[in-house]
Amino acid sequence: MRAVDILLKKRRGAELSADEIEYLISGYVSGEVPDYQMSAFLTSVCFRSMTERETDAMCRAMRDSGDVLDLSRFGESSCDKHSTGGVGDKTSLVVCPIIASLGLVTAKMSGRGLGHTGGTVDKLESIPGFKSALSPREFMEQAERCGIVLTGQSARLAPADGLIYALRDATSTVDSIPLIATSIMSKKLAGGASNIALDVKVGSGAFMKTEAEAEKLAREMVRLGRAAGKNVEAVLTDMDEPLGRAVGNSLEVIEAVDVLTGRSHGRLRDLCLTLASHLVSMARGISDAEALAEVTGAVDSGAAFEKMTEWISVQGGDARYLENTELFEKAPCVKELKARSGGTVLSLDAEKIGRVSSALGAGRMKKGDRVDPAAGLLLSVSVGDTLRPEDTVATLFTSNEDNFAEAERLFFEALSIGDGKKEPSPLVIGTVK
Ligand code: URA
Repeated sequence: MRAVDILLKKRRGAELSADEIEYLISGYVSGEVPDYQMSAFLTSVCFRSMTERETDAMCRAMRDSGDVLDLSRFGESSCDKHSTGGVGDKTSLVVCPIIASLGLVTAKMSGRGLGHTGGTVDKLESIPGFKSALSPREFMEQAERCGIVLTGQSARLAPADGLIYALRDATSTVDSIPLIATSIMSKKLAGGASNIALDVKVGSGAFMKTEAEAEKLAREMVRLGRAAGKNVEAVLTDMDEPLGRAVGNSLEVIEAVDVLTGRSHGRLRDLCLTLASHLVSMARGISDAEALAEVTGAVDSGAAFEKMTEWISVQGGDARYLENTELFEKAPCVKELKARSGGTVLSLDAEKIGRVSSALGAGRMKKGDRVDPAAGLLLSVSVGDTLRPEDTVATLFTSNEDNFAEAERLFFEALSIGDGKKEPSPLVIGTVK
């Protein structure tokens, strides 16, 4: 087999065989297929797309490029969730304790933040002592003992995805549905869970800008997961504005605690309950309504918060910070932003708000950058609110006041205030089962 022949076949629109796809993927991981040939393949996929058979073969080859976690000891109770990337999305911090308090298990690896989106591991590391690197033995023992373990992404899980993703970023080949679907599902399938809930974001802050595109991606991912014998459901959710009020690492942990202690209601809590109930209904084979009643009960009774404190302390973190969130170190520089005119909040661009948070020091411009745990912003407004001039619209936190100028400029680019009424987009736009 020769890569050049496979590339020509794909460029001309013929269907590749599973062996040909496996040859390209494993050859790329071993270094036999160079970057320029993989780039040509990815570009052809962007133009020609992929058939179902090709997508299945690519997902399998990427999953099998490294370790596949064996969670069979947890039977049908192992769960995983994935969000296609959002701003202010701290749902894992809430959903995992809810379902663990109901006897389900999450043993999962999560990403770090890059660009305008945050990463769950960075958020957890804002809790003093939290250990995000565990040995495989520690990982499994904690899952058995506590029902939740969450660590940084292992380079041994779907390594083909790490390599291909970096190349896609550099060759403008990110926005292809088969490439996104295989990237996400190869990692989820290598993660080994029996039940997978996918949160596919739609809107200005998301990869998928329209509902139709998001639904297509969701259907493809659900199909790939089912073909591999997993229970998979997807919800399409709005990312035209950030999720919740807080964007930034410790600020988001505090907001997650607020949801689990009943101090925060609204869209964030609603989405966490929705995702948790999909997992509970899949794992137990019960109806959505029964599952929703159980997960709501777990939050309202305090059982889910108790599980969160247990998890954080078992993983080395100081759980006193959760009992009393005032203990989190405060950013030394704080600035309130005021509305420059009165009117209705017409939009609050999620992607730009993510960039505000990065400009304040909470995000990474490039891999390996250090993040500031206390930096970020708290929003005081959401789409549809009515404002008077000088009302507070956000509070910015950073350790370097030179960051304010850029953050403020981006914030006012993100916020649009005008006349008339504006209804916020519905949070859950659709479900794919
Ligand atoms: N998230 C991923 O993991 N992969 C993609 O291709 C897009 C979003």
